[in-house]
Amino acid sequence: MQCDLETHFSLNMDKSWITKAKWSRDYVNGVNNFIEFASRSKNLSGKILCPCKSCINRYFLSLKDVKDHLISKGFFPGYVVWNRHGEEHCIIDEYAINDASRGTPK
Ligand SMILES: [Zn+2]
Repeated sequence: MQCDLETHFSLNMDKSWITKAKWSRDYVNGVNNFIEFASRSKNLSGKILCPCKSCINRYFLSLKDVKDHLISKGFFPGYVVWNRHGEEHCIIDEYAINDASRGTPK
């Protein structure tokens, strides 16, 4: 998977909502943003790993079910880098960029 600008942008996404109250507007908005982001990493059945507190990325569910889980059970708080939902490659790219710039004489 290529690290396009759209995916790259996700690194700067606000994830502070993950720790907010499940009924708060910020949390619900955050869940909607996550579903939209994660929908790009759907498997062949159109499902994604559910990052809720009960599933913790162990089960593939439909976008609707994941949304229901996140609203009713809450987001797994340790999942701050969405590497199971498309962020991994960009993180690696970031390190590569940092390594390259470190070796460049100024
Ligand atoms: Zn779940």
